[in-house]
Amino acid sequence: MASVQHNSQSPDHGTRHGADGHTAADTGAAARRDRAVRAAVEQGLITATEPVVALLDVAGIRSSAAALHSAFEEVTAPGTPVLHAFAVKAAPLVPLLRLLSEHGIGAEVASPGELALARAAGIGAGRTVLDSPAKTPAELREAVALGIAVNADNPQELERIDALVRSGPASSPFGLRVNPQIGAGSIGALSTATATSKFGVALRDEGARAWVVQAYLDRPWLTRLHTHSGSQGVPLELMAQGVRTVYELAEEINAAAGRAQIDTLDIGGGLPVNFASDEETPTYATYARLLKDTVPGLLDGRYGLVTEFGRSLVAKHGTVLARVEYAKTSGGRPIAVTHAGAQIATRTVYDPVSWPLRVAAYDPEGRPKTGPAVAQDVAGPACFAGDLLAENRSLPLLEQDDLVAALDTGAYYFTNHYAYNSLVRPGVHGFTAAPDGVRFALLRAPQTVEEIVTESGGAYVDALLDD
Ligand SMILES: *Cc1c(COP(=O)(O)O)cnc(C)c1O
Repeated sequence: MASVQHNSQSPDHGTRHGADGHTAADTGAAARRDRAVRAAVEQGLITATEPVVALLDVAGIRSSAAALHSAFEEVTAPGTPVLHAFAVKAAPLVPLLRLLSEHGIGAEVASPGELALARAAGIGAGRTVLDSPAKTPAELREAVALGIAVNADNPQELERIDALVRSGPASSPFGLRVNPQIGAGSIGALSTATATSKFGVALRDEGARAWVVQAYLDRPWLTRLHTHSGSQGVPLELMAQGVRTVYELAEEINAAAGRAQIDTLDIGGGLPVNFASDEETPTYATYARLLKDTVPGLLDGRYGLVTEFGRSLVAKHGTVLARVEYAKTSGGRPIAVTHAGAQIATRTVYDPVSWPLRVAAYDPEGRPKTGPAVAQDVAGPACFAGDLLAENRSLPLLEQDDLVAALDTGAYYFTNHYAYNSLVRPGVHGFTAAPDGVRFALLRAPQTVEEIVTESGGAYVDALLDD
């Protein structure tokens, strides 16, 4: 296995067993990754002229999709309708959405762009959910025309939907997003259920709960209730509490209505991901069992379920591979200047404490690099001093033309490119490590410099000149 170190407290130890007795898919995943890195060099995916490339492990994604299905099958009553809708923002790649769709997973979309990607992947209206907090009238009209599920964020959006429903028959299932205000996790920017979160109707605000109940009684077509109270840094117990709050609200509304008006609960996504080793924890099975313990009524068959997991389906299966362009020292500390920095690891570079990434070292042929660990910086190509993928990290000493791999970057990293310094978006390749060799499939072509000129106003070159 490649030399991987997260930080001095949590070195990677290879095979481990999860707390709930599941064997992590770690040795398998790490071995596949090492083979893919070697093959990426041999097959010319990474070269002096294309010095950064992104890789997605297809077997890993398939296994996460299967684990998600079986976790909820295990805890729901037979026949319970369950839609797992992948949060497209986590990895907006059409072939990936198509692969997930083949595994029975739909799409959670939050912009016209994400909806277009889901449609391009062939994901049907019945398996698509629209959730953005800032839907325009045109977006709402399109969603209703297509019949996709819509979760309203606030009273004003609900009034726009009222007008659409009055103007003609609408086949979309409609829900309302509520914020259970259960508090923050360890990363403020990703905590959706704080007292003052921008999302949904804040349920504990004065008069809010009564308003929500009345809003449902006034609208017999409002049949879903939505919350998303997780994301990286939020403990599972807190997520489950948020779900319980929403379940109890649904029970209250249905009792007031005297019928099962709310037939589906959308419990959002937000399962955190372990960025410290190859172990895949917490598992979907752990979370599903916790839901069963915390909110048994949710799973007894009276409600259909929608989930919206993003990061946990793909993060562990992505690797960014970058060449070391130069190796130098500064103030006595070795620095490897690579082609992976803020443009693909934006959160890590700007907030390294919340978003540490593991870095693996490989030699120029793509073989795991060995040698004594040396504290060094792994820098990116961008022109600001803080553009560091890892600071003071212990790794075999990186040299010119070596390769570094930023691990666990399948969600919100290379798929969420940041255009700083007009650096090109790297190509993305899916890989399958078959016994007879590693096969790559291009999922997104690398951006070209010509495209950057076009996207940067190249067609309007004279626009600011006096005629
Ligand atoms: C971002 C988001 C998700 C997915 O969150 P992950 O942490 O990637 O699982 C799900 N639902 C909504 C409404 C979101 O905004």
